[in-house]
Amino acid sequence: MSDNYLRLVPYDPRWYPAQHAATAAVNAAHGLFPVAGHIAVEYEQGVTFFDAGANTESVHCPFCGSDIEEWWGDAMNQAAESRFEDLSVTTPCCHRPTSLNDLRYVWPAAFGVCALTVISPGVNSVSSEQLRTIEQAMGSPLKVIWQHL
Ligand SMILES: [Zn+2]
Repeated sequence: MSDNYLRLVPYDPRWYPAQHAATAAVNAAHGLFPVAGHIAVEYEQGVTFFDAGANTESVHCPFCGSDIEEWWGDAMNQAAESRFEDLSVTTPCCHRPTSLNDLRYVWPAAFGVCALTVISPGVNSVSSEQLRTIEQAMGSPLKVIWQHL
């Protein structure tokens, strides 16, 4: 099996767990993925975009479903200038307010200041029960991002 990264990113892009909760979540993940190469909560310097990896950006409007990939590139560049402090955008298609974090990424992606990262978890999917176990330890709902390298 090739190297997969599983990243679990808190729903709130600015939320991060206390040390004990991060440790509990890592321990829970070790129990669920006993063959994983490495498991840790990684903290970023600021809000970071976690995506599925190369050539996988396909982005749709959460309201009307339009393909907004072209617009999205510019919107990302603009948000990057504020180091992703401000994720609010207005969709180009139907002109509705939303967040870059709430667009429909065909390959799931999320913004966050931290991620629970599992390198080579030994599985290709996470069940909702497994996810709930880690969420309870961490203390936040989590988005599941797979990076295939
Ligand atoms: Zn739209």
